[in-house]
Amino acid sequence: MITINEHYLKLQASYLFSDIAKRVAAFQKSHPERDIIKLGIGDVTKGLPSASIKAFHKAVDEMAEDSSFKGYGPEQGYDFLREAIATNDFRSRGADISADEVFVSDGAKCDTGNIQELFTGDIKIAISDPVYPVYLDTNVMAGRTGNFADGRYQGIVYLESTKSNNFVPSLPKEKVDLIYLCFPNNPTGSTISKAELKTWVDYAREHKALILFDAAYEAFIRDQSLPKSIYEIEGAKEVAVEFRSYSKSAGFTGTRCAYTVVPKQCRAYDKKGNKHFIHAMWNRRHCTKFNGVAYPVQRAAEAVYSEGGKIQTKALIDYYMVNADMVCATMDKLGYEYVGGKNSPYIWIDGRMDSWAFFDMLLDKAGVVCTPGAGFGKCGSGYIRISAFNSQERVREAMQRLTDMLSAK
Ligand code: PLP
Repeated sequence: MITINEHYLKLQASYLFSDIAKRVAAFQKSHPERDIIKLGIGDVTKGLPSASIKAFHKAVDEMAEDSSFKGYGPEQGYDFLREAIATNDFRSRGADISADEVFVSDGAKCDTGNIQELFTGDIKIAISDPVYPVYLDTNVMAGRTGNFADGRYQGIVYLESTKSNNFVPSLPKEKVDLIYLCFPNNPTGSTISKAELKTWVDYAREHKALILFDAAYEAFIRDQSLPKSIYEIEGAKEVAVEFRSYSKSAGFTGTRCAYTVVPKQCRAYDKKGNKHFIHAMWNRRHCTKFNGVAYPVQRAAEAVYSEGGKIQTKALIDYYMVNADMVCATMDKLGYEYVGGKNSPYIWIDGRMDSWAFFDMLLDKAGVVCTPGAGFGKCGSGYIRISAFNSQERVREAMQRLTDMLSAK
């Protein structure tokens, strides 16, 4: 008899984006004349940087000729991209990361979801609330979370991110082994200072824990004092794995390219307390289960670091950040409290009412779609997330409608 992994039965069906889609579709059906502006989902809307497109085309042409054709590439990624990453994303900021510590992949979603399989089932995990759901659900699937009761998994240590801690969780009171951190944060848009991040690195060193640092939104950091990488913190290389993605930084959501950094000295322990280096383990996993990112995609990613690519990707980010500025200015004017939007494409707004009620009101009265915060965890109740990923014209229009709606309330 084929039996199932019953941990899957513990998963809470993620109705968030399908619920949103259903409500929007129903609204559009009953109001076909209404023009709906979507500021909900975190997907980019602008085309790829022209440097990437040029490199992409050239690489596709190379694939057409026997002399330049590429078959299976190195599972970890081509050296040209790994070198460009180590030089531009890390060494340029004083973080001593070498090319062979970089593992190129087809997405930070896969990497943040897959990394947990290197660790035993009985480790204690700390995950923030609200949270990007992948961290939690992949640990549910692996059987690490215990049962779901009263809106939470009993075996997880939830790191609450609320107004009282400025949406940067405090260190857990109990000892944990694996810590998921994401800054700039999805969904709150909050950022972490170097001093705050150091407390986590120190905690991990003291408790022999490991930090999984998701920096998928680092490109949106404008405040130069904020860390873009956890490796800017002394001592982090032993205790942290970092995830990056070209999805939001260069518009690769549909192109698929990301990477994970596993420093060679990054360690974990066996049951006897012997130290092991997880670089070798992740390398083994990657080679066994993954066959590399397409050559043209890696060339397109490499072009992000060219002179033109740097200018064009910055222009992309700046474009979305004009939207974020518009949303923040609107909220300032209306007197609504929010976090994010300064160094992040997300603005997390205290809606002063149930988050689904705010969602419905915004859709019904203004024809604007946001994401209800409750969908990201218990601490998201009462909040909505607005994303800066849309055209400036549409965001301007949405903010006008929102202003009209809330001023008339
Ligand atoms: N990490 C965070 C925090 C995200 O918000 C997302 C996507 O929204 C990802 C990772 C996934 O990135 P990728 O497109 O590289 O899979």
